Amino acid sequence: MIHSSLTEMGVALRAKKISSVELTQSYLDRINTLNPTLNAFITLNPEATIEQARAADARLAMGNADALTGIPIAQKDIFCAKGWLTTCGSRMLHNFVSPYDAHVISQFNNAGAINLGKTNMDEFAMGSSNETSFFGPVKNPWDTSRVPGGSSGGTAAAVASRMCAAATGTDTGGSIRQPAALCGISGLKPTYGVVSRYGMIAFASSLDQAGPMARSAEDLALLLNTMAGFDVRDSTSLQRDKEDYASHLLKPLNGLRIGLPKEFFAEGLSSDVAQAVETSISEYKKLGATIVDISLPNTKLSIPVYYVLAPAEASSNLSRFDGVRYGYRAPEYTDLSDMYEKSRAQGFGAEVKRRIMIGTYVLSHGYYDAYYLQAQKIRRLIAQDFVEAFKQCDVIMGPTSPSTAFKLGEKGDDPVQMYLSDIYTIAVNLAGLPGMSVPCGFGSNNMPVGLQIIGNYFDEARMLNVAHQFQLATDWHTRSPKL
Ligand code: GLN
Repeated sequence: MIHSSLTEMGVALRAKKISSVELTQSYLDRINTLNPTLNAFITLNPEATIEQARAADARLAMGNADALTGIPIAQKDIFCAKGWLTTCGSRMLHNFVSPYDAHVISQFNNAGAINLGKTNMDEFAMGSSNETSFFGPVKNPWDTSRVPGGSSGGTAAAVASRMCAAATGTDTGGSIRQPAALCGISGLKPTYGVVSRYGMIAFASSLDQAGPMARSAEDLALLLNTMAGFDVRDSTSLQRDKEDYASHLLKPLNGLRIGLPKEFFAEGLSSDVAQAVETSISEYKKLGATIVDISLPNTKLSIPVYYVLAPAEASSNLSRFDGVRYGYRAPEYTDLSDMYEKSRAQGFGAEVKRRIMIGTYVLSHGYYDAYYLQAQKIRRLIAQDFVEAFKQCDVIMGPTSPSTAFKLGEKGDDPVQMYLSDIYTIAVNLAGLPGMSVPCGFGSNNMPVGLQIIGNYFDEARMLNVAHQFQLATDWHTRSPKL
């Protein structure tokens, strides 16, 4: 059953071929076997999990089950879940038990889904390799000497190794799409505002967006149906009619116009990734799509702009972690300001501190205009590039990441090299657009390659259709690592 789609699991649960308790227990057993090596889960709470599965079985017996009732879902440890340790991968929150549920968590709870456990992540979602977690790195299940990508690396590894049926991630600059690509799974970052950020620990609020990570586009659609929706508690949540993201899956792709940005196929892209992506584009031509050459001229500015704006927002968001209200407090200090200083010095890791310092600097008097304001202006130009591009095409495609999964430790000493791994994903967040990654082949070292699909605002249903048709024609998404 652990290799079945969410739809198949739902059918089996409703037909009583398997109970939610049995299904959930089989995942917990698999986690027990594989997690000591992969380190994808950082908090498990088997009693609470099985208790939820029992309740789901009761609901299934009453015949009022939802599509996800009884299905075990792993949650990135950035989402507050009532009664669960919620650490955001940081020592700062190593002892924080959330008193409330994030909107995403309550949506899954209302659907009767099972919270299987909390997944490892880069500290405060800052990273592209999952090496900045206070709880140690996650290993890529395809090759445990390599990174799973980040920051949703625990989620990506958990889905790829079939330790959960599906899971959640968040994406500020690529953290759903890049780990999905590096672990050979599917992931979708929705249009900014489609999924409520309430109860999701903030990194860079104007960029953060939660989304589903799963084995296939079909599964993503079911998850997004549960996650999306208006929430008054998030002032950037959008009030729109409820949509069925699975409704377009079966539409043929005849006449689909795919834009290929020349900047995505230039210097910096590994040849094995380029080859897999180009082969997938040929597959799309066979499915009836036409190719349009486009340009996103400001692509190369997206990384410098992001590394001004995201740290600026992070420096403000993370000022709440002061050792007073919750989280880590230094055991010894002399006075109040010493307590703040020591708690923050000991509670945050190196990458988080680097971002707080950059953010404080670019927001400081005298530098604000030169850095922060300038970056905001270029952000608008980057968004405008997409507006122009979507006049000529329906979706944009390219690689998700310039290379396949790199070795643990390989980029640790060179933050700029690490930052460059998000070159194709970051502009999408700056523009607030939806983006996804689907498996599209393997590179020279036998590691998975991801194809990125970028859609226009609110075009998630079409993107899922485009991805699903590809997955009907190919079998990359069904491959799983030998474990
Ligand atoms: N890798 C990027 C960063 O380090 C993006 C992270 C994210 O999307 N959360 O900021």
